[in-house]
Amino acid sequence: TEIRELLLSRIRDVADYPEPGVMFKDITPLLADPAAFTVLTDALAEIATRHGATKVVGLEARGFILGAPVAVRAGLGFIPVRKAGKLPGATLAQTYDLEYGSAEIEVHAEDLSSEDRILVVDDVLATGGTAEASIQLIRRAGAQVAGVAVLMELGFLGGRGRLEPALSGAPLEALLQI
Ligand code: 5GP
Repeated sequence: TEIRELLLSRIRDVADYPEPGVMFKDITPLLADPAAFTVLTDALAEIATRHGATKVVGLEARGFILGAPVAVRAGLGFIPVRKAGKLPGATLAQTYDLEYGSAEIEVHAEDLSSEDRILVVDDVLATGGTAEASIQLIRRAGAQVAGVAVLMELGFLGGRGRLEPALSGAPLEALLQI
């Protein structure tokens, strides 16, 4: 569709970043274009509304840039999920495996309640590890998962399959499939 073509045209391929052999999808041209950024925000906000989300979780760091305007547009609260050590209050933490080593993310536990249905927003779904850990965090905090919404899914990395058990029926929506 026209919307997909606009979004795709504003994503820049950067070869060998952050390491040799990786083709990085850079969304900064999209963010710099007000028409494209608005179309993206509206599309993600529509997903939040359609799945009955009560709050948006954004994953550090590009998930903050996309998730915050989506939350405002949909009339919902925004909750940051951050890399370990960045949040000042009482947190729940979740570790997950990377290709080499592991990573840890955190959320303020008191921001999530059993009444909440959370839409997780990020720019790119790659291996799915980050999104999977965020879902585990949300469920451990006692909240429900309305779904995961990303601008772009890198299909060849198999993130959708990795995410499926954690989603347990909740939708994964990607505006673009690469
Ligand atoms: P995953 O945990 O799914 O392997 O990696 C997803 C995380 O890494 C996301 O938070 C995303 O922002 C980042 N990421 C991985 N690959 C890319 C990429 O090519 N472009 C951008 N913009 N982010 C990426």
